[in-house]
Amino acid sequence: MPRYLTLDDLNVSERTVLVRSDLNVPLEDGEVADDFRIRMALPTIQRLREAGAKVVVCSHLGRPKGADPAFSMAPVAARMSELAGFEVRALGAVVGDEVQQAVSDAGPGDVLVLENTRFEPGETKNDPDLADRLASLADVFVQDAFGSVHRAHASTVGVAERIRSAAGPLLVAELESLGRFLGAPERPYVVVLGGAKVSDKLGVIENLLPKVDTMLVGGGMCFTLLAARGYEVGSSLVEEDQVDSVRSLLDGPHGDRIRLPSDVVVADAFAEDAAPRIVAADEIPADMMGLDIGPETAESFSEVIRGAQSVFWNGPMGVFEWENFRAGTEAVAKAMAECGGFTAVGGGDSAAALRMLGMEDRVSHLSTGGGAGLELLEGKELPGVAVLERWAS
Ligand code: ADP
Ligand code: MG
Repeated sequence: MPRYLTLDDLNVSERTVLVRSDLNVPLEDGEVADDFRIRMALPTIQRLREAGAKVVVCSHLGRPKGADPAFSMAPVAARMSELAGFEVRALGAVVGDEVQQAVSDAGPGDVLVLENTRFEPGETKNDPDLADRLASLADVFVQDAFGSVHRAHASTVGVAERIRSAAGPLLVAELESLGRFLGAPERPYVVVLGGAKVSDKLGVIENLLPKVDTMLVGGGMCFTLLAARGYEVGSSLVEEDQVDSVRSLLDGPHGDRIRLPSDVVVADAFAEDAAPRIVAADEIPADMMGLDIGPETAESFSEVIRGAQSVFWNGPMGVFEWENFRAGTEAVAKAMAECGGFTAVGGGDSAAALRMLGMEDRVSHLSTGGGAGLELLEGKELPGVAVLERWAS
């Protein structure tokens, strides 16, 4: 029994299909700075279009507080048109009379993009009225936004409760690839965590630790763990209020699975041109901050990764955007490429780092999702996927 319908189960010819894509891309000066998620979303849209559907695409973009032109989908639609070679028209609103009219005026094969769903305050509250209005736009709904299915929003859950809904091909591919880490992944199973969002990811450590053989922690988040070990971490990124709970994790039954840096690259300022200096992890000067893992750590982390059968990596090992603090991330990326097992990378910045290093094709799976992938690995239910099950019976 399939858990959800797929495009193979839908007849979309001459019908209106609402697609929830993940078009949450970084913008710079009003233009798309990185089109990875757009390129990944397009094949589904193209397939629906070729099947004769009228395609209405929606997505959130960034975290605007209400309608804000700086977060408009217009530049995204423009980039979609360029990449796809057919017209993708941005509508000026998420719902409303003008949107209804534009959708009914469109014909088979037309592709319309709604405005940023987070311009509607009801989106993140999964407001029933907004969900009704989104559902009224289409005959069927296709959920293809893997990066958003861990959120119960109007455009991920509300709409799927109301009209016949299927999982899109990108979502299916993500669930199948990352599903390899669930149940009985091939061992050794290693998770590599880094990045800046410390408090977001501390819960992840707790939930993943019982499942993995080794957890390698670098990036900004490692300093909260080093602080919990009693080390002086200078002016590095630390979540003071998390130190106690991290300490109980480190002292807990699986604490020895966590591997922390033995050396770090420090600087006296958070700046691109700050002079890098390598110090032992327990000798960080009080006026310095850690901006990358050190070379000894990079080598030992790489060894663990190369020896693994399943590796999931989320979060850069350092401030990879700056050359002086990129070596740790680069070493981990190389080790992922050399690993003979199943390797997956998730997270917007982690994916950007891989591409910057020209290594996006060197891992088994490059995920479009960050938080959603981590929640999947943690064994949590993804509300945007669970809601699809009702249509499969
Ligand atoms: P992802 O998008 O892959 O989930 P995050 O958004 O959590 O990753 O973190 C990425 C950011 O973390 C990068 O911009 C990087 O510069 C930053 N970062 C990594 N290491 C450090 C550090 N030691 N101090 C401050 N920022 C860091
Ligand atoms: Mg990020």
